[in-house]
Amino acid sequence: MIVRPTPLLEVNALKKHYPLNKGLFGGDKGAVYALDGVSFTLDKGETLSIVGESGCGKSTLGKTILRLVDPTDGEVFLDGERIDNLPASKLRDMRRRVQVVFQDPFSSLNPRQKVRDIIAEPIVNFGLAKGSELTDRIAALMDKVRLPRDAMNRFPHEFSGGQRQRIGIARALAPGSDLIVCDEAVSALDVSVKAQIVNLLSDLQDELGLALLFISHDLAIVEHLTHRVAVMYLGKIVEIADRRTLFGSPHHPYTRALLSAVPVPNPDPLLRKRRVILKGDVPSPINPPSGCRFHTRCPFVMDRCRSEEPMLRPVEGNVRQMSACHLDGVPEHG
Ligand code: SF4
Repeated sequence: MIVRPTPLLEVNALKKHYPLNKGLFGGDKGAVYALDGVSFTLDKGETLSIVGESGCGKSTLGKTILRLVDPTDGEVFLDGERIDNLPASKLRDMRRRVQVVFQDPFSSLNPRQKVRDIIAEPIVNFGLAKGSELTDRIAALMDKVRLPRDAMNRFPHEFSGGQRQRIGIARALAPGSDLIVCDEAVSALDVSVKAQIVNLLSDLQDELGLALLFISHDLAIVEHLTHRVAVMYLGKIVEIADRRTLFGSPHHPYTRALLSAVPVPNPDPLLRKRRVILKGDVPSPINPPSGCRFHTRCPFVMDRCRSEEPMLRPVEGNVRQMSACHLDGVPEHG
């Protein structure tokens, strides 16, 4: 019997519903189903990217794992220990091990703090070092994110966007974290700077064995960085697979539409013809469609799709590719 090591992060049927205020006459106004039963695992040293259009629930997923918001239901385990139901007073170790890098390096750093104080804060808060040991640790982190050591005595406004994101990464690494949630961490950066930050994250992962939960709408960036990809639509994962399979042979019609929209240099005219234009907007998460949530926009919709919710299941017996779709094989777009 093969015994799989405990994943670093395990998420089971995680839900986050935001109840809407009751109406004037006390009627139930329902809820926003931001996250509605999401499950996956993430191993040590692995990158899992969460992709999908704006409003699909990917950022809520990151916030719920980080316990910036409390889940409505479901379970989250870190190294086998359940963390979704820990009281605030017992979250300290989890907060040390799971850190975040946000999208906007301009607003996520305190403009009144010098870089050394920004990076020192988590080290001091968790009581990990002080005095000269603290200074040495900050200097080592500056080296790791490839910023000059003398930059620690400057303020965030003296740096470019990419450099500020390096400071944010140094802060996330500072307490010796195992998992970094990168919430659109490169989205606000110029293309060339994006590539540098992605390469830096990749190098740090190799060096430190970090796990990355990389939340992004940018599939071109994801393809360069990730080991596996989970595609979200209206609060659910609709497909999850290793990078090569997902980009080379996507199954779910929504994944195929997303991938067909990724700009490629010098596109093959044949491939261009296969661009899938989805009709309509993403439906509201307040009242998501019955059955398959994608049925209002899917070019392959069948009767059963409107009433029967498809579960995530292996595609053609391949457990490394799971898709929530009633179709058996990989659909061909015309
Ligand atoms: Fe389309 Fe039906 Fe598959 Fe949903 S279950 S993606 S509507 S074919």
